[in-house]
Amino acid sequence: MMVRLEERMKGKGTRRCRICGGSRALIRAHGLRVCRRCFREVAPELGFKQYG
Ligand SMILES: [Zn+2]
Repeated sequence: MMVRLEERMKGKGTRRCRICGGSRALIRAHGLRVCRRCFREVAPELGFKQYG
């Protein structure tokens, strides 16, 4: 039997910070998918000002 790709993609463990792997206070704006803490580090590079 084939497993639907869509279901696998939406399984657990997909919502994690791609930088530190944390899963708290994730920010998914612009497809960043990083936690709030890491966001502050990458924000300047993207032209964002401090978040929160
Ligand atoms: Zn992080």
